[in-house]
Amino acid sequence: MAILKVARMGHPVLRMKARPIAPADFKHPALQSLIDDMLDTMAEYHGVGLAAPQIHESLRLFVGILESVKPEPGKEPPEPEPIAVINPEITALTEEIIEDWEGCLSIPDIRGRVPRPREIRLRGFSREGGRLDLTLRDFPARVALHETDHLDGVLFFDRMRTFESLTFLDEYSRYHAKD
Ligand code: ZN
Repeated sequence: MAILKVARMGHPVLRMKARPIAPADFKHPALQSLIDDMLDTMAEYHGVGLAAPQIHESLRLFVGILESVKPEPGKEPPEPEPIAVINPEITALTEEIIEDWEGCLSIPDIRGRVPRPREIRLRGFSREGGRLDLTLRDFPARVALHETDHLDGVLFFDRMRTFESLTFLDEYSRYHAKD
């Protein structure tokens, strides 16, 4: 296990188009341990998603929490398990666009409101090499869209309609977290 250094906005790797991972490499021990390290890094910094370019690997791969776990009555909600997605591809399933807050481990302590499609289809491969085909809505869709953008060199600032909502984390907590 290792906590990796996170690239911050301005590092050229965050503006590159990342390259696909060959199916023959899906089970390569180096890729598997990279995924483990990305999961550890994401947890360490309390992220909900982390794309490979953010840890200086220009590969089409991200880890993220892509499920909304419903608590059973009378029980604490289970911790949602993050998953890895290799070579993700996204198509919007609706024209409905929702604007909501996003942050990014590569843009520390900043939040801003970003418009995204409400529902998407995410296809790709799991870390075991199986095909993934998920329909995601609301927050998990937002996570997948944000992380897949990283693989094309796109940061959430690029998607904002205006910069009026840009907020430091303290001010976000004080004035906007209830939105
Ligand atoms: Zn990000």
